[in-house]
Amino acid sequence: MNFKVRVLGCGDSLGVPRLGCYCNVCSSGLDKNRRTRSSIAIFFDSGWFIIDATPDLKNQLLPLKVDYNKFLGVLFSHPHADHILGIEDLRSISLSLRKELSIYASHETLIEIYSRFFYRVSYIRKKVNALPWDTLNSILINHGEVFNLDGVNIVPFFAYHGDIKVTGFRIHDFAYLPDCKILPDESRILLKNVQTLILGALWSKNKAEIMNPKHLTVEEAVELGEELKVERLYLTHLSHKVDYYEDMKMLPNWVEFCYDGLEIEQ
Ligand SMILES: [Zn+2]
Ligand SMILES: [Zn+2]
Ligand SMILES: [Zn+2]
Repeated sequence: MNFKVRVLGCGDSLGVPRLGCYCNVCSSGLDKNRRTRSSIAIFFDSGWFIIDATPDLKNQLLPLKVDYNKFLGVLFSHPHADHILGIEDLRSISLSLRKELSIYASHETLIEIYSRFFYRVSYIRKKVNALPWDTLNSILINHGEVFNLDGVNIVPFFAYHGDIKVTGFRIHDFAYLPDCKILPDESRILLKNVQTLILGALWSKNKAEIMNPKHLTVEEAVELGEELKVERLYLTHLSHKVDYYEDMKMLPNWVEFCYDGLEIEQ
């Protein structure tokens, strides 16, 4: 099965440049050092979906010539603000197509989404006489259990991101895990023979602002890619401490940094 992955954004929770920061990367003005918040879109012949809906979502999708009739919904990795605030932007698709927005997430993520977007729950929408399609159609996914999205098999697996459990997704030989510190053994088994991995890495060890308990460093991410024996590793969720042009030189030849708009054919 062929599909195309497009990196909609590859920045950390604050994006790059950061407001108020004038470091070399933030003020470089160079394309690949400008990063919106992390998300990807996956395009098959019959349809497409996104993983996470960032606060930058509208501007990530507007330049793309995509068919919204084929939009299948959003898979969520976890409910941090940089991954869910684009839910509001997706209302426009529901309103245009007269179709509920389908969201796929684990139990813990759905609870958080519904607590933040309580006004989108269908019974509340009915109370305020909203259009019936202007709501969320939530589909529960369980880690380790394959689910099918319009003929595509997807394997959700979990990882630890600080003190919360997040969901990564495997689709055939490709996997995506933007926010992660520890990948447990049971998830490593589910990633066996993955060829292409997009994995979060905040900054290099020698440029770290703090020892971050929630995110891998570039070095830790490369080590994890090695342990999983992936053929291609793309690093995402990058902070302003990563200079695409300078730091790429230090990566092994099977690893590269993502940039906004990168497309990977699978
Ligand atoms: Zn994040
Ligand atoms: Zn900066
Ligand atoms: Zn996060």
